[in-house]
Amino acid sequence: MIGLISATSAGQRGCEHLATAWPDDVRIYDGPVREAVGRAFAECEQLVCFLATGAVVRLLAPLLRGKDTDPGVVTVDETCQHAIALLGGHGGGANDLAQRVADVLGCRPVITTATDATGVPGLDTLGWPVEGAVAAVSRAILDGAPVRLDTPHGVHPLPALPPNVTATTDSDISLIVTDRVTSADDRSVVLRPPSLVVGVGGSRGVPADEVLALIGSVLAGAGLSPRSVAALATVDAKADEAGIVEAAERLGVPLVTYDAARLAAIDVPNPSDAPLVAVGTPSVAEAAALAAAPGGELLVPKRKSAPQAGPAMATAAVARRRPRGRLAVVGLGPGARDLLTPRAREELRRASVIVGLDQYADQIRDLLRPGTRILESGLGAEEERARTAVAQARAGHAVALIGSGDAGVYAMASPALAEAADDIDVVGVPGVTAALAAAAILGAPLGHDHVSISLSDLHTPWDVIERRVKAAAESDLIVTFYNPRSRGRDWQLPKAMSLLAEHRHPSTPVGVVHAASRPDERSEVTTIADLDVTTVDMVTVVTVGNTATRNVAGRMVTPRGYRWQT
Ligand code: SAH
Repeated sequence: MIGLISATSAGQRGCEHLATAWPDDVRIYDGPVREAVGRAFAECEQLVCFLATGAVVRLLAPLLRGKDTDPGVVTVDETCQHAIALLGGHGGGANDLAQRVADVLGCRPVITTATDATGVPGLDTLGWPVEGAVAAVSRAILDGAPVRLDTPHGVHPLPALPPNVTATTDSDISLIVTDRVTSADDRSVVLRPPSLVVGVGGSRGVPADEVLALIGSVLAGAGLSPRSVAALATVDAKADEAGIVEAAERLGVPLVTYDAARLAAIDVPNPSDAPLVAVGTPSVAEAAALAAAPGGELLVPKRKSAPQAGPAMATAAVARRRPRGRLAVVGLGPGARDLLTPRAREELRRASVIVGLDQYADQIRDLLRPGTRILESGLGAEEERARTAVAQARAGHAVALIGSGDAGVYAMASPALAEAADDIDVVGVPGVTAALAAAAILGAPLGHDHVSISLSDLHTPWDVIERRVKAAAESDLIVTFYNPRSRGRDWQLPKAMSLLAEHRHPSTPVGVVHAASRPDERSEVTTIADLDVTTVDMVTVVTVGNTATRNVAGRMVTPRGYRWQT
């Protein structure tokens, strides 16, 4: 719940504005300001105060308890120009809240936590549990002091870290990425990667407490941190076993299950007859742990629970996953910065390696964190680029493979994913493809069934392209031509147009858009008869209407249906 507090009528209007925008998430606190702030501070996770920053500081000072528990607080000035993240920037979510408030009220967010302002990733914003001297180590990273990066179990897909954080420096200030319990000191931070999988087995009716106690003691005995547990794993037959399901819920991790035949095929150190009879595999805990950690290693072999009374009902074993790299396939949109999606922007900042054509890298260089490696290449060499991206992800890095428009449309996603195995995580971020960017400029040309056809015969024989153009012509599809014409390929577009003309009137509208959303954008709505192909180049798409498409006030409009609208 977000508590809203104001003292003036301008502030009240601001409160009402936020309450309209987020009806289910906010509560307005009326009455004397001191009391209202006190109540909201006790009852809400976040506060927005339409009050002077100084006044809020004085009101909050006696209430502050600690970074982990205090709500995030945003203040907004009387004229609604600034939304200031005052307290709890990361942990309390005030930085994000300031941005959201700014979006609603149309004001500027003011963020002052050092890591956000300088582009260094906040150690507590990586999504992994963090322990130790966060403030001191963050300070050292920001100050450029040498910080040792210690990743004893391999490379992890972390965002780019600044150059003063390296594996080779012998500084006593360190950033350690490990699932092992380490003795905390005031010079180091430990990040807990999601690297452990606990395989569990259990008799029918096993209590959750017994499962959890066993997991706790198995991890503690091996010096492993429960905060690195990424999943529990078991056999399909135990997918509904209440104690196991509840144990996963209480740990806050997913329960993954495997069929008995698959588990039976896994080599384990301690097979036994009991599970073979009960569920059809000689090992549940060890085999499930290994199944959920492909390429990983068994750290703790099977152990049985030690219940207070009666026979042991649970078994557990622990495996460590190989660190999984991350490949984000990111479409940058047609060119304009405001057509790059916020999600794409996030992925670029999350990556430590960018792979793509140099012209695309140029487009987004300013958005990258300092220290991000850029592996650029010129035109061509597509497969090599795809291989590089996958190899980098396989080595454990967070990679963004970038492309213009949508990275899956006549672009790098297919060759990259054709190379990738299931040992990396893959994330796709859609982008505004050229056909859509052009359509928005032309009017509403894609209002009915449409198709994209690339006229590049580099990877596709011309007779295949021709067959598709003919089919589109016969079936009255609106057609957008990508790669329509280059210096060396000049007869394909006229040929394709003549095939369409066999089924469409010469007055059918044709839209030509060059460099959509870029500074040299140029567009024209013409007709099949009047199209001048010499205006078309490789940074152009050509959209040909269907038999119902009309030119309305200079815009290309395809009716939604033949019956609905004439
Ligand atoms: N992945 C890209 C397409 C790559 S194929 C996308 O989704 O948009 C390259 C072709 O896309 C170019 O030859 C051109 O036809 C088209 N194209 C890409 N960007 C364009 C833009 N900004 N304006 C017009 N056409 C564009």
